[in-house]
Amino acid sequence: MKRIPIIAANWKMQLTEAESKHLATFLKENYQPSADLEVLLFPSFLHIASVRDIIAGSGIYLGGQNLSFAEKGAYTGEVAAFQLADIGCTHVLVGHSERRHYFHEDYETVNQKVKAAISSHLKVVLCIGESADERKAGVTEMVIVDQLESAFSGIDHDKLASMVIAYEPIWAIGTGKPPKPEDAAHVHQIVRKTIRRLYAPEIADNIRILYGGSIDAKNIKAFMAQEEVDGVLVGGASLDAKKFLQCLKNWKD
Ligand code: PEP
Repeated sequence: MKRIPIIAANWKMQLTEAESKHLATFLKENYQPSADLEVLLFPSFLHIASVRDIIAGSGIYLGGQNLSFAEKGAYTGEVAAFQLADIGCTHVLVGHSERRHYFHEDYETVNQKVKAAISSHLKVVLCIGESADERKAGVTEMVIVDQLESAFSGIDHDKLASMVIAYEPIWAIGTGKPPKPEDAAHVHQIVRKTIRRLYAPEIADNIRILYGGSIDAKNIKAFMAQEEVDGVLVGGASLDAKKFLQCLKNWKD
């Protein structure tokens, strides 16, 4: 089965509502949807509804940057999976390194969030990746495998099909210093091998693995050209409408 690539934009906590609306409008007006690419936006929770209304009918997908581990109830300030689905999200980011670091999300929390997302039929984009120190210590593979095994603990085979994994080495996020595309692809091979071991060859062959960290309009093609790279998650370069549109145009010849 052919894996349809994904280009996803993580707007983090960077934009006003007017800026989010401008970006969405620009994409809707200038991006020609195509069957060989999925485009996915992760706005702030506050702007999801506005962006949803603008991109309606464009074929662009919408996701939350985070969700609560809890299903529903008295959790002041949290946003539940069912609320994201209700407002029009199809996807949700889980385990972004900024959440693991600043909000102390441990393996158990990430696993609970994966389960919460699945229970509301959201497609999880699970972020994994090693720190600079872990890379220096030569434990990248161990970290990646631990992150995958813990996130997928108790998740059935049939739920894996809708999952997306984003390999985001922490040292490459926002630094302008991505790895060589072939080095990222090597880690993607480890991810796929791990999914094969935990689940089954056909699941591993079909799951999409994105690369994230300092992707821009200039380097996107080299990453997307790697057999093992099924798309990219873009932070900084997705905040500028023209630069992100350039990414959507430059990813292949
Ligand atoms: C990210 O944090 O998900 C990301 C990919 O950021 P950037 O593109 O800015 O490195």
